[in-house]
Amino acid sequence: MTKKLEEYEWFCPQPFINTVMNHDLIPKACCVLKSWPSHFFNKIGKTSIMEVHNSDFMKNFRKEFLNGGGPISNKLCLVCKEQEKHSPTESHRFKYIEKFDEVHGEYKEHTKALEEYIETDHSDSMYLTFEYNAPNNFCNLKCNMCSPRNSSTLAKENKAIGVSNLDRSNGDVKEETWINLEDNMNDYEEILKTVVELKLVGGETLALPQNYQMMDKAIEMGVSKQMKLVITTNATLTPKMGKHGDVFDYVPYFKNCQMNVSIEFWGEKNNYLRFPSKWEKIMENVERFSKMPRTSILFASCVTSLSIGYLHEIAIAVDALIEKEPNIYTDFATGSLVIGEPNVYTVTAIPEEIRELYIQNIYEHAPKKHANTFMKLINYLTDMPFDKDLHNRMMIDVAKRDKFRGTCLTDLFPEWKPYYG
Ligand code: SF4
Repeated sequence: MTKKLEEYEWFCPQPFINTVMNHDLIPKACCVLKSWPSHFFNKIGKTSIMEVHNSDFMKNFRKEFLNGGGPISNKLCLVCKEQEKHSPTESHRFKYIEKFDEVHGEYKEHTKALEEYIETDHSDSMYLTFEYNAPNNFCNLKCNMCSPRNSSTLAKENKAIGVSNLDRSNGDVKEETWINLEDNMNDYEEILKTVVELKLVGGETLALPQNYQMMDKAIEMGVSKQMKLVITTNATLTPKMGKHGDVFDYVPYFKNCQMNVSIEFWGEKNNYLRFPSKWEKIMENVERFSKMPRTSILFASCVTSLSIGYLHEIAIAVDALIEKEPNIYTDFATGSLVIGEPNVYTVTAIPEEIRELYIQNIYEHAPKKHANTFMKLINYLTDMPFDKDLHNRMMIDVAKRDKFRGTCLTDLFPEWKPYYG
């Protein structure tokens, strides 16, 4: 009798059905993982997906999910572990498990096959979802909490203001601030044959030629119609970069599409943290995305020291959009909890007085229907201990960037005045 997914003590489908081709051309199991040991796999050029799949490291990692956990997942799955510490039902892991719910799951037709696959020796692969992180860190924005490996503009600013571009968690950016490597799309043919979800991320996803080459490959192979295309974008530009044109020309080739629009605030505050974006332009593009065929839109946010007290404003605005156009807009997602070195924009950098204000805001304004999400945020604010050193480092970082950009934190976030300047 095959064991059911829910019978495993601490299971996650990602290491079994998902693979991420990382910026550094070293595959990993999941985009949420921290401290992925790229150095184990590193060599000159690209590491193949099956090389990582068949490595002893991956075998041991997968085994932990069948045996209730272990030292590798304790370290690498830090974000999910932390989320679940503060909320028993909300984490990336739960979201991925939900997709295989036998009744309502998006990938319910694959649940039985996954349960059977788990019980094999995994020497064959069963990749259903593939995230392509192009080897190109170009991004036109420099969000404070981003990494130089994900934004050439942030890397350039770091260099100008004397901030290190060393990012152990995500591959180093040393002298060159813009990294742009060629990638051979023929290497992905095997995986593209089986995936039902192709996820493209960035840098700025829509401004990377490699992402258009990946879509071209899926179209040429005749497999794009079996795929959901998931694009994460800052929604500030829509260049014609592919041989078929811009994103509006590509989406019709796919089964359906989900546009993940990255925002941290609803309105002008977003321009500050996701510098130098313009809110009107983002919403203008969102409106255009909403007209694409078979397309849904998800607003996705990180949980940072600056945004955590304002995320309910996104929830309220998105609820209004869903009421107007329920087939297009879906619930917003408080995606990644910003945590772990070298991040400084973390909840642990928020002083007590500001936490009290944010908790009060959430209690007073967060919509009741999102109680689980906002209780999780309140738990972060209550339980995650204040780290004075991190707070000081964050305030130094804010001050340096404000000076360089000609912005001022406290114009938009007056609650930080006692700690600023
Ligand atoms: S538990 Fe979380 S971090 Fe670990 S593989 Fe699953 S989704 Fe990724």
